Amino acid sequence: MSLPTDEEAAARAHRAFADRFGTAPEGVWAAPGRVNVIGEHTDYNDGYVLPVALPHTTRAAVGRRTDGRVALASLQGDGTVVELGIDELAPGRPDGWAGYPAGVIEGLRDRLARGVSVLVDSDVPVGAGLSSSAALTCSVALALSDLTASELTRTDLVELARRSENDFVGAPTGILDQSASLLCTFGHALFLDTRERRTEQVPLDLAAAGLELLVVDTGTSHTHADGGYGDRRRECERAAARLGVAALRDVTDVAALAALDEVLLRRARHIVTENARVLEVVAVLRGVADPRAIGPVLTAGHASLRDDFEISTVELDACVDAAVEAGAHGARMVGGGFGGSAVVLVDRDRAGSVADAVRERFAREGFTAPRTFDVVPSAGARRIA
Ligand code: ADP
Ligand code: MG
Repeated sequence: MSLPTDEEAAARAHRAFADRFGTAPEGVWAAPGRVNVIGEHTDYNDGYVLPVALPHTTRAAVGRRTDGRVALASLQGDGTVVELGIDELAPGRPDGWAGYPAGVIEGLRDRLARGVSVLVDSDVPVGAGLSSSAALTCSVALALSDLTASELTRTDLVELARRSENDFVGAPTGILDQSASLLCTFGHALFLDTRERRTEQVPLDLAAAGLELLVVDTGTSHTHADGGYGDRRRECERAAARLGVAALRDVTDVAALAALDEVLLRRARHIVTENARVLEVVAVLRGVADPRAIGPVLTAGHASLRDDFEISTVELDACVDAAVEAGAHGARMVGGGFGGSAVVLVDRDRAGSVADAVRERFAREGFTAPRTFDVVPSAGARRIA
């Protein structure tokens, strides 16, 4: 699948907005999905993460109204416009996909008293662990801040977008996804310390090193708002409480976990070792070492998510096994877990044969054929028209 240029994407969103609402939008904004190189489930434990922005974006065409109504449409939805009075916005209202942009609007309600229309278009795969939800909230957050609240910093917008997901939609995410979508820059991974809110742009020029970072979307989906993600968050909180620390970030030695029972020990061990893996990968990328050296760290991260955090699936395990067997430097599942995507670090000249090996394994196991694409570390959220 080839992605539209920003100009093409802006023109399409502009046209669709005019079709739906009978007037031109005031502008079009784009925000990317993300894939996390390493640092999974560490964000809500005050830990470290290292995402890159995808070339895939969600676009929001936005125009203010004069009738006090909020109107929301998505080209990925069923085509209907969700419309209600701005004073009617409340957690769960509207429900479904419209809650994501509505929560952002609600966060700036006093500046939007006369209403707003939003038309959304996207090429970020939904529910694939690539953060289509943050691409959606961040595109709208940047649009509304450009139009009405320009004193807000990108860090403020991270909070605005996160609150929409957490408090309005009820999806208990950390700040990884929103930070990646708003703060990433082209050609870099974003090293984020989620406690200190400190960021560093770490150069990641895979092409110059003869490498590709493949995303393999298994086509199996997860939903964040219910199930395992929330369970893992609560387990991490319980483990931190038992250990008497504010967050698992405060533990750096796995020996300190011995006081925990079996399940909590494994959950906590994933977080402690994963934070160490982020620091290890950042050290490699900052230095002169060959970036291939991060491959085994990624694969170790997968084993930890599979065995200690227990959020992998047979599809994701098969993908990682097949890729490494076929000569990838490393591979791991990404995202919330229970489905979604994996990343594979591979020499460019082997990328085709490794992707074939994964596809063959999936066919043999009777899994749905996966979708693969190469990730170029891309730009964060921006105005495109
Ligand atoms: P992920 O963020 O990993 O893709 P989530 O479950 O967090 O998965 O978010 C997916 C949800 O976000 C979808 O179910 C839908 O409600 C909403 N969403 C994302 N992108 C769009 C879009 N372009 N149009 C409408 N809804 C979207
Ligand atoms: Mg999401």
